[in-house]
Amino acid sequence: MSSSSFAGSDRTLALGLHQDGRRLTPQRRIVLQLFESVGSGKHLSAEDVHHHLLQANSKVSLATIYRTLRLLVSLGLLHELELSEGGHRFELASHDQPDHHHLVCIGCGRTEEFESDSVLEAGRNAAENIGFKLIESTLNVRALCPSCQKQDMNISS
Ligand SMILES: [Zn+2]
Ligand SMILES: [Zn+2]
Repeated sequence: MSSSSFAGSDRTLALGLHQDGRRLTPQRRIVLQLFESVGSGKHLSAEDVHHHLLQANSKVSLATIYRTLRLLVSLGLLHELELSEGGHRFELASHDQPDHHHLVCIGCGRTEEFESDSVLEAGRNAAENIGFKLIESTLNVRALCPSCQKQDMNISS
């Protein structure tokens, strides 16, 4: 199972390079490689990417990182999660679990994944009932993680 996911990742990368190789500058490749090195199922913000690259001595401005992330999303190499309060997070599009869902802490942005057949089924049924062609069903749940719940209590008491 895990070996096939690696093959999938290589294929996606090669596809992106082939289709749009000219636009995938070394800088863009560095960003994509960062996502591949942290592994699938990790959700990084633009600031996280900036921080990682600075640690690796790659001086790329935050504005460039934002543009690069948008481009990689448009090429289908990254998947974007829109979290109203936690901002935007990005993850590798070639994921072991393409139909996974996210539990997001609105306090600190901690993001956990979960799977749910009933969510997938609800999406499938809803689409079928009105004749839509299903692309994906993903659910983003906004919540407070245990440590942010503690902080919340401290403030209100
Ligand atoms: Zn995810
Ligand atoms: Zn939290």
